[in-house]
Amino acid sequence: MFMVKKKINGNEYYYLNENKRVDGKVKTKTLAYLGKTKKEAEEKMEKILKDKNEIKSEMENKKTEKKIEQESTKISIEEMAVYCKRKGFVYQSGEIYGGLAGFWDFGHLGSELKNNIKKEWWKYHVHQRNDIVGIDGSIITHPKVWKASGHIDNFSDVFVVCKKCKKASKIDRSELGKVKCINCNGDYDEKTAKDFNLMFKVTVGESGESYLRPETAQLIFTNFKLVQESARMKLPFGIAQAGKSFRNEIAPRDFLFRSREFEQMEIEYFIKPDSNCPYEIPDEEILIYSAEMQEKEKSPEVMSIKEALKKGIIKKDWHAYWLSIQFRWFKNLGANPKNFRIRQHRKDELAHYSSDCWDLEYNFPFGWKELEGIADRKDYDLKQHEKFSGKDLRIFDEESKQKILPNVVCEPSIGVERSFLVFLFDSYFYDKERENVILRINPKLAPVKASIFPIIKKEEFEKMAKLIFDDLSKEWNVSYDESGSIGRRYARNDEIGTPYCITIDEESLKNNDATIRERDTTKQIRVKIPQLREIIRKLIFGEIEFEKAGKNFE
Ligand code: ATP
Repeated sequence: MFMVKKKINGNEYYYLNENKRVDGKVKTKTLAYLGKTKKEAEEKMEKILKDKNEIKSEMENKKTEKKIEQESTKISIEEMAVYCKRKGFVYQSGEIYGGLAGFWDFGHLGSELKNNIKKEWWKYHVHQRNDIVGIDGSIITHPKVWKASGHIDNFSDVFVVCKKCKKASKIDRSELGKVKCINCNGDYDEKTAKDFNLMFKVTVGESGESYLRPETAQLIFTNFKLVQESARMKLPFGIAQAGKSFRNEIAPRDFLFRSREFEQMEIEYFIKPDSNCPYEIPDEEILIYSAEMQEKEKSPEVMSIKEALKKGIIKKDWHAYWLSIQFRWFKNLGANPKNFRIRQHRKDELAHYSSDCWDLEYNFPFGWKELEGIADRKDYDLKQHEKFSGKDLRIFDEESKQKILPNVVCEPSIGVERSFLVFLFDSYFYDKERENVILRINPKLAPVKASIFPIIKKEEFEKMAKLIFDDLSKEWNVSYDESGSIGRRYARNDEIGTPYCITIDEESLKNNDATIRERDTTKQIRVKIPQLREIIRKLIFGEIEFEKAGKNFE
C-alpha cells in the first residue's frame, strides 16, 4: 500500500493505493481518500494500517485457536490408560500379581515426563522468583502435626454403598441424601454411611504410630519459622514443596486422576495480614464460574481475571494474581486454555478455616474436575501449630517493629498426576494423513528431546551418530535409534512426542552436518554438527524458529 498525491483543478488530494497482480498484469486500485494535506493524509494512513494490522493479527489469533482445537484428538480416560501402558508411560503397580487399586508405576517415558513437569513447576515458581524458596520435608513426621492440622479428626470422606449395584463410593458430607450412585444412578444407603479417615497409619520403630502424609503443605507450616530465618525471607513470601502424598481413597478411579499414592506441588504464600498484592496481575481470559453463578444456576462466563477482580467476583487481588499465575503456567507449557476454568467454592463446600477458595478446573473426558485448589487459609495453620506445639511462630516485622503471625493468603496446591494427564490429553493428536499418533507435547516436557539416527547401519554413520548422542545426552534425555526404516523411526518418535529427529546421512560425512526434522511440521533443516547442541537448546526453549535455525532441506 502506498500514498499518492493527485492534482485536480489546481487542488491537491491524497489517496491510499494498492498494486495487485490480476491475470499477470499489475493493476492499481484506490483503497481510500486520505485528505487534502500531507499531514492529514499521513495520520489517516497510519490509522488505516494500524486497523488492518489489528484485524490481521486477530485473524492470525483465530487461526492459532483453530490450530489448537485441531491439535488434540479427544480420547477417553480408558484409551489414555491403554496408550500410556503401550508406550511405557504408566503401568498398574504390581500388575503381574493382579495390581493394587489406586497405585501406579511410571515407566521409562512416564518417569521422564513426570520429572519434567516437576522441574518446570519448580523453575517457574522457585528459581524464577526471588520471593519463594523450596523445601523437601519427610513423608512420615511427628503424629501431632496431623492432630494440629485437623487431619486426624476431620480428614475423612463419607463412605457409602449403593443399594442397587452395591459399589462403594466416597461423597462429601454435604452431598449425603442429595447425590445418586455414579455407577448406576441408584440410591446410596444412608443407614450404612460412615466417616472414613483417608490417612494411612504406619508403625514407626517397634510400636510407635504415625501416618503417611496426606498432603505436603503441613511440613511447610511446621518449618515456616526456620525457613524464614535461614533464608532471610521478608513478607510477602512463599515456601514451595513437591513430593509424594498418600490418601486411602475409598474409590480410586479414572486412571491417575484419583489414586492412593500421588505427588503434589504446593505453595504456602505468607503475607502481612490485610496487605495488598504488590505485583502486576497477568491479564488472562478464562471461563469463570463463581459461587453466585452456581447458586443461581447460571452458566460460567469467559472473562478476564482482572475484570472479575474489578467486578468483585474475585474478592482479593492476591487471589486474582495467583489464579492468573497458575493458569499461565499451564498455557506457557502448551495446554489448551479452552479446557480450563476457575470455579469458586460454594459456601457449603468451603472448609471452616477458609474464607475463599477457587479451583482451577480442567475439562477431563469425564467432566470438569479439580486440577488445582487455591485456598485462602488465613492464619489457621500457623495458629494451630502454635497451639499444639506451644512454640511462638510469629516473626518480626521491620515495618511495624512488632511480632506478627502472617496469613496464608493463597495456597496453590496441584497434583502432578492430574497435570500429567492434562498435558497428555492436550497434546495427543491422531494425524489422519500420517496415520499415526503425534504427541504434540511442548519440547520442555517431552520425555525424549531428540532421537539420533544413522541413515543406514554402517560403521561410519553409526560412529558419527553416537558422537552426537554422547554430546546431547550430557544435557538431555535423548535416544539413539538404528532399527527399521527412517519412516518407522520418525513414526515411533512422533508417537511419544520426541520433538526433533537428527539423521546422519551421506552428506553429513562430507560436510560435518546433520538434518533435524521437526515432529509437528515434518520440516527439515541442515545444521553443522558443532552447532547442533546450541541449536537444539534454543529450539527447546522456543528462542528460535525452526526454519530459521538452519538451512532448509527437502
Ligand atoms: P478432590 O476433591 O478431587 O478429592 P481435594 O480437594 O481433596 O481433591 P486437595 O486436598 O485440594 O484435593 O489437593 C490438592 C490437589 O492434589 C488436587 O487439586 C489434586 O490435583 C491433587 N489430588 C488430591 N487428591 C488426589 C488423589 N487422590 N489422586 C491424585 N491427585 C490428587
